[in-house]
Amino acid sequence: MSIAEPPAASGPAAATRTAHRTCPLCEASCGLEITLRPTPDGDEVVRIRGDRDDVFSRGYICPKGSTLKQLHEDPDRLRRPLVKRDGAFFEVGWDEAFAEIERRLLPILDEHGRDACGVYVGNPNAHNLAGLLYNRALLRALGSRNVFSASTVDQRPKEISCALMFGGGLNVPVPDVDRTDHLLMLGANPFASNGSLATAPDWPGRLERLVERGGTLVVVDPRRSRTAEMASEWVPIRPGADAYLLMAMVQVITSEGLADLGRCADLVTGLDDVVAVAAPFTPELIAHATGLEADDIRRMARALAAAPTACVYGRIGTTTVEFGTLTSWLVDVLNVLTGNLDRPGGAMFATAAAGASNTRGRPRFGREVRLHRRTSRVRGLPETFGELPAVVMAEEMDTPGEGQIRALITVAGNPVLSTPNAGRLDAAVAGLECVVAVDVYVNETTRHADVILPAPSALEKAHYDVALLQLALHDTSNFSPPVLPLDPDQPTEWEVLARLALVLQGAGATADPAVVDDLMITAMVQGSVSDETSPVHGWDVEDVLDALAPRRGPERILDFLLRTGPYGDGFGADPGGLSLDHLLAHPHGVDHGALKSRLPDVLRTPDGMIALAPPILVADVARLLDGLDGRREHPFVLIGRRDLRSNNSWMHNVSVLVKGKPRCTAHLHPDDAATLGLADGDEAIVRSRVGEVRVPVEVTDAIRPGVVSIPHGWGHDLGGVQLSVASAHAGVNSNRLADETLFDPISGNAVLNGIPVEVLAAP
Ligand code: SF4
Repeated sequence: MSIAEPPAASGPAAATRTAHRTCPLCEASCGLEITLRPTPDGDEVVRIRGDRDDVFSRGYICPKGSTLKQLHEDPDRLRRPLVKRDGAFFEVGWDEAFAEIERRLLPILDEHGRDACGVYVGNPNAHNLAGLLYNRALLRALGSRNVFSASTVDQRPKEISCALMFGGGLNVPVPDVDRTDHLLMLGANPFASNGSLATAPDWPGRLERLVERGGTLVVVDPRRSRTAEMASEWVPIRPGADAYLLMAMVQVITSEGLADLGRCADLVTGLDDVVAVAAPFTPELIAHATGLEADDIRRMARALAAAPTACVYGRIGTTTVEFGTLTSWLVDVLNVLTGNLDRPGGAMFATAAAGASNTRGRPRFGREVRLHRRTSRVRGLPETFGELPAVVMAEEMDTPGEGQIRALITVAGNPVLSTPNAGRLDAAVAGLECVVAVDVYVNETTRHADVILPAPSALEKAHYDVALLQLALHDTSNFSPPVLPLDPDQPTEWEVLARLALVLQGAGATADPAVVDDLMITAMVQGSVSDETSPVHGWDVEDVLDALAPRRGPERILDFLLRTGPYGDGFGADPGGLSLDHLLAHPHGVDHGALKSRLPDVLRTPDGMIALAPPILVADVARLLDGLDGRREHPFVLIGRRDLRSNNSWMHNVSVLVKGKPRCTAHLHPDDAATLGLADGDEAIVRSRVGEVRVPVEVTDAIRPGVVSIPHGWGHDLGGVQLSVASAHAGVNSNRLADETLFDPISGNAVLNGIPVEVLAAP
């Protein structure tokens, strides 16, 4: 079934067709209208613009959205598997590629055990239906404990704080921006990023409308970002000090009798503990650490408490810091204390149509969150949610001994650019005995691969945001079938992942991926028929599978999740309810309405309550206090930066996104530039404990003195990379400066903001 409209009967438009697709490039999930025309070689994309009828984005699109065409047509994008022989890549057929993996990787696993192979799962998997569903099978088949992902590079602290407080890593309250009166935003720049862990198209428009209707937007950020420029107030905090500010706001609100928990009052445990741990953190105590005035902190706290509705929202600048989990926790402590959790205009929980654990099973019934069940081999850093922190990857590879990582599988990830001490990791990956990548480019990491398995382009695969719609600012659902057919011989993405899983299991290079698919859906259905809250409780498994036939792959799983979800048709119980067929008949998506109050049913904690003071977080407050005493002053600290035309490391090969003045520059305050003798365009050396880069300077008063900002995801000048456009706009890799010894001890998350550095004029 296709959502493509039929060709017009006559006239110039007769040759074109229109398809609709959700953009998978960032978390905003905008609807796209794609015009195609037939050519002798198949349909060609002639235009991509915002879908004005999309129920969520209403025509909004950013400059990246239209580049799905360039990404699809990129001559550097891999269309066939590559195998490396004598140091050079050669195109091979799919059977040969899987046979090569079997030949090279399985002997390593046989000799050294499953942990000898590490896995890195990159950020694009969060936006990818097949990746989200079938990577699980891959990880299970490998059976290694050395699993890493982009989550411990950017968001694990929020996942942990929400798991502890509300009972699920994706049970994340999101700011109800469209209805709030007061938004306190920390470490986020939606004008460039379009939002994160808070899915919505057109964040800029939503913020502008908030201010236009008389609301207040307060942006806390060491940099006067574009978002801060339009805010009611910019609070130029010191990098990494958000936890101190938030703790002091808790202290003000609780000590001045301003706390009013509203509908949460009877659903909270640990309120007294929060009051007690916050008590020492007066605004005066933390003023120096934050670089803010005590009176301003009091004013901010009182304004938050007094607003008719308000929400606190923190993102990348609050999670990629040494107190990341504490900061993430305090964001929601303030939402609870001010009575703004779960009310319109406050911080609310989405009701996702498919796959959300907070819509399945018994409400207010969950398991205890068990963190730190094991530790890494070399440094003893703790596991979280089955993964080890990305900051230990290099040492687990280059430190000899029992349990050493000798091989690596990457799935849509480029850790050599995106994780700390990139120089050490680059050398470590180069020294591995076998590297297998599922990727569309020969990039800084995959150039070390022995075998690369390319996935289809975004236009060639189906899409549904299973993860991101759990974090949406408005409840919608939207499915996109493939816009273009697969290249001849190209398997679907789920087939690539399932075949790789089968090779790892020892089933052979030619095993049928349908086996994995059948096992996965059968396990899901079995779980559901025995779940008394499921609409198929008590059904025969075969009857459910028959009802899903003849679909296969992710579409079959998605149909099952939709039909058993909160808006689902319940396999006939609600004939007007949601199913994949229903979504296919609604190519602009289905609107399920504004966010709804969901307490207490949304909770999945063991006691069905909001844990306001999880013991592991309360215990970590001592470190916050110690950090205040022992806070070292550094001449400079490094922070990151996001640009609207950039998206982590992998979109720099699109010329329309990288043309114009270089974006990989170091922002420096004029006072610092004058002290260092640097002017706009001069080159600076920025040096940390682990490395140095040489980077052009942009002098700007939009940054705090003592702070230097370099965007991440650049540094495409390494030998062997096959990114012709990106290599011509290489930039520098800021992760050559990120220090793998700096991390948040609860989540293991890398510190990417607030890295001590030295800055000097380049000779
Ligand atoms: S904002 Fe994100 S989802 Fe929307 S068009 Fe841009 S890249 Fe795509």
